[in-house]
Amino acid sequence: MKIFYSSLQKKHVIKKEVYNGKAHPYNDKVTRVDSILKAFRHAGNYEIIVPEILPYDAISNVHDEDYLHFLESSQNLKNDEIICPYVFPCDNRISRHEPFIPKRAGYYCFDAGTSLMNNTWSAAVASASTAYAAAIHTKKTGEPTYALCRPPGHHASKNMFGGYCYLNNAAIIAKYLLKSGSVMIVDFDYHHGNGTQSIFYDSSEVFYFSIHAHPLVEYPYFTGFEEEKGIDDGVNYNMNVPLMPLSSPSEYFKALLNGMNKAFQVMEPDYLILSAGFDIEAGDPIGHFNISIADFNRLGREFRAMNKKTIILQEGGYLVSALGGNVESFLSAFH
Ligand SMILES: [Zn+2]
Repeated sequence: MKIFYSSLQKKHVIKKEVYNGKAHPYNDKVTRVDSILKAFRHAGNYEIIVPEILPYDAISNVHDEDYLHFLESSQNLKNDEIICPYVFPCDNRISRHEPFIPKRAGYYCFDAGTSLMNNTWSAAVASASTAYAAAIHTKKTGEPTYALCRPPGHHASKNMFGGYCYLNNAAIIAKYLLKSGSVMIVDFDYHHGNGTQSIFYDSSEVFYFSIHAHPLVEYPYFTGFEEEKGIDDGVNYNMNVPLMPLSSPSEYFKALLNGMNKAFQVMEPDYLILSAGFDIEAGDPIGHFNISIADFNRLGREFRAMNKKTIILQEGGYLVSALGGNVESFLSAFH
């Protein structure tokens, strides 16, 4: 199986994040990548391909220009400088003063847990490039592909970063693939993909399906409820399946397959983009669905049986010791 990955993605290094007023180790650790690559080396039947940098208009097709210029300006930070936004202009009556790094970085951010450093932009572009190269390959050959995206993407909206995400990799390749067929994004990260939902919320071009921890109790708290079904042309092209933490694997699979059946009644897509969040894994520090390594293989088989052209994008998954094995178990169902 072909794997897309660039070492530039490891140069985005943030050590701490703020949670409940306290500094904690940043969950999107570089060692996540090492864990996944090690599992591929151990299994032996994966070919790792370094992607070319994607065309800028593939990114600007999804994200606002001013947001991209802002993110790009993070390259000017000093080597050891980390910017963690902590003031947010939530009241939209406040007049706009030019957002800039570092003082008004909160203009383009929705949480206090995601930071910027001077390699953030190049890592985010490299991450999007892995997704883009995977999409090109699947489009050409019909083969399933996996992009080792880091930083992840599904929390990033047109003009906001957060949840460790800066560029929305799934949305970027969805726009590209739309030229050659219909697209459904299935997001099984533990957390609702608020960014992806917002990008396609008023559109029937891309169906967004998400199964995730209930926003009553889990991040991102404000979105991911069942009643969010889309607006305007997008009505019924957005489906959320929120589950309470510690749902058993059998409940999980039942809810997923029921939901997918309903989604396929609205759209039988040519392409399936999987926003593959492995923070549903047993023991994940921020996820509580208890999906085992064997369950991940079953999950892969269920998606494989849907028989669509499939691109798998890495999203969350933070238990470094188990992540690689779980990703490999999932992917092994595709070859
Ligand atoms: Zn997550």
